[in-house]
Amino acid sequence: MANGADRLDLDGRPIKPLTICMIGAGGFIGSHLCEKLMNETPHKVLASTSTTTRSNIARAGYFSVGGEDPVPSHQHQARFEARGTRQDGGSDLIENVVTINLAAICTPADYNTRPLDTIYSNFIDALPVVKYCSENNKRLIHFSTCEVYGKTIGSFLPKDHPLRQDPDFYVLKEDTSPCIFGSIEKQRWSYACAKQLIERLVYAEGAENGLEFTIVRPFNWIGPRMDFIPGIDGPSEGVPRVLACFSNNLLRREPLKLVDGGESQRTFIYIKDAIEAVLLMIENPERANGHIFNVGNPNNEVTVRQLAEMMTQVYSKVSGETAIESPTVDVSSKEFYGEGYDDSDKRIPDMTIINRQLGWNPKTSLWDLLESTLTYQHRTYAEAVKKATSKPVAS
Ligand code: UDP
Repeated sequence: MANGADRLDLDGRPIKPLTICMIGAGGFIGSHLCEKLMNETPHKVLASTSTTTRSNIARAGYFSVGGEDPVPSHQHQARFEARGTRQDGGSDLIENVVTINLAAICTPADYNTRPLDTIYSNFIDALPVVKYCSENNKRLIHFSTCEVYGKTIGSFLPKDHPLRQDPDFYVLKEDTSPCIFGSIEKQRWSYACAKQLIERLVYAEGAENGLEFTIVRPFNWIGPRMDFIPGIDGPSEGVPRVLACFSNNLLRREPLKLVDGGESQRTFIYIKDAIEAVLLMIENPERANGHIFNVGNPNNEVTVRQLAEMMTQVYSKVSGETAIESPTVDVSSKEFYGEGYDDSDKRIPDMTIINRQLGWNPKTSLWDLLESTLTYQHRTYAEAVKKATSKPVAS
């Protein structure tokens, strides 16, 4: 653990040790944030998570799983509280506290098939956290999503229209871009809409009641421990996000499924780069309070098809296995996700605000982040997948 005395904020002031109440700490982002805070800072983390995601913190090496109550596996100060999926704020007895709310259902396959759970987890369950922080004058860092932008303005222009090349028609800016969602029958947007409303609530608590808040909009953060591999550490019929879907296909030597031709574009950022940005927000409240931050890597843009091709190449390199003959296959979104799916066409984050406030920039190229992530996927899952696929089918 780092010595607090020699840590300075961006304005050269010593950083005081904080108590961080992290809700949803066992998920993908939370596990990486816990790891960073425990390894590199003097801050104390009160980690709360649902029982379904606790394995992520265990995988990060902070807790052993097994008994009723997992215990810290080494000297870290985190306290683990498995309380189901409800979110319930932090302790009012603690000084210098920051609440970080990460708890959410955030896999697109759930938005149109479990819209009620999606809306409850992203809006209703987050309400008491926001109210608690506002009423008790506690700082809140709330995790939202780039999906609040929805579709780009350019997506409504004809395919070959020259304005589609104009950044004003696709770059997503925190303070000026509109939020453009599909119709109510397109239940995909239940997530974006719930996230938008909770953002508006947080913002209004800031404006009317002085809540000190920061809102984070992650743009496709990816890396080790993201989601699950169906049939190995998650349900076999489950559909995780694209990194885990494609990893699963590669591990099983199946073609990667391109939804509606894989034409949608995404910018992917390495989780470790993104966590650096979050740490800057935590430790520089005067620069981060009152702001909404895009956190992404505009240099790592690909279509989903290009992502599939790159992951196939990288996986061959890290596993030593040659790619299968037809590495991709097209599927319709209706077949893959069911009724009510819709898609964001393109997501390029504008970086002006985060650059100005925190001087932060992402570092890792898409190839490099895929190499380290797929090395992890291969090391973690290849044996288990081999065993699962070689099991005789029960008669
Ligand atoms: N996708 C795909 N094949 C898959 C999984 C996802 O083509 O096996 C597409 C999906 O339709 C979307 C993109 O990949 O266009 C990214 O999906 P993800 O689930 O990672 O989340 P999103 O970026 O849409 O929030």
